Amino acid sequence: MKREALALEVTSVVLGASREFLAKEGFVELLPVILAPVTDPLRTTPEWATITAYGHTWYLTRSMIFHKQAAVRVHPKIFCFSPNVRLEPRERAHTGRHLFEFVQLDLEVRDATREDVMDLGERLLLHVLSEVRRECGRALAAWGRELPDYPRPFPRITWHEAHREFGENFETELSRRSKTPVWLVDFPIDQREFYDREDPDRPGILRDMDLLYPEGFGEGLSGGEREYQGERIRARILRQGLSLEAYRPLLALAEDGLCPSAGFGIGVERLVRFLCGFPHIAETRLFPRVPGEHALL
Ligand code: AMP
Ligand code: MG
Repeated sequence: MKREALALEVTSVVLGASREFLAKEGFVELLPVILAPVTDPLRTTPEWATITAYGHTWYLTRSMIFHKQAAVRVHPKIFCFSPNVRLEPRERAHTGRHLFEFVQLDLEVRDATREDVMDLGERLLLHVLSEVRRECGRALAAWGRELPDYPRPFPRITWHEAHREFGENFETELSRRSKTPVWLVDFPIDQREFYDREDPDRPGILRDMDLLYPEGFGEGLSGGEREYQGERIRARILRQGLSLEAYRPLLALAEDGLCPSAGFGIGVERLVRFLCGFPHIAETRLFPRVPGEHALL
């Protein structure tokens, strides 16, 4: 089978297996939101994609974080295959894991803790892995890719431990040396966005996590508990030097009452890249959007 066809088959199994797993866990699927008056601040991606319509500026969604926080007021377990547009700097074309349009499986659970969603994430990933092995194992093997069954729970390391042990480039090093997926937890407050919840017992440390794939494939999932109280959201926005005015829709929601929640997003193309063992994420899409490059179609 051609590599392009293999990528399509693996993607299709990833989508189907995730949907099936999450439905059994009691989740409902939201349709994606593509245009929004406010979106993820993502300080490491400074350029914004916008359109003007009906006299207003609309952002192309970079993630559905705020929509997820709003949605768990209505239903306790929600997920979405959310198309995101992030105008990544051109240099990121060469990381092998950045597109400027991609899809994340984005989910959120009302009243959940970080540990709850880490457990869910492990079970979801292992279910998807076993379905991909079952449906596409032979085609993957023909391209030299074997997918092991990883034991649970996956190991965890704190951001500070990883930094001490592996230096500045800890994420790449940790992913390269790891034989199984590994959790990176407890990021320092200024490393992340304002919506990640600060640990009430450990000021300056967040109740968040990333999951790194083994074999050097790097970060595949980010998530955590969320700030949901208006006062705290306001303080975190200001601490990051952002304007309260820009996040007025979120603050209005918080005023009305947000729920405690936790969740995460898994990049679908990064997952498919890892499953297929492809060097570059562009190979996972028929119509890839590579930072800085134009496209035929
Ligand atoms: P974030 O919350 O920014 O970590 O994004 C959630 C997930 O989306 C990440 O863990 C990645 O798997 C995926 N992702 C983020 N940025 C990109 C990108 N530029 N290209 C492809 N996947 C991405
Ligand atoms: Mg991330």
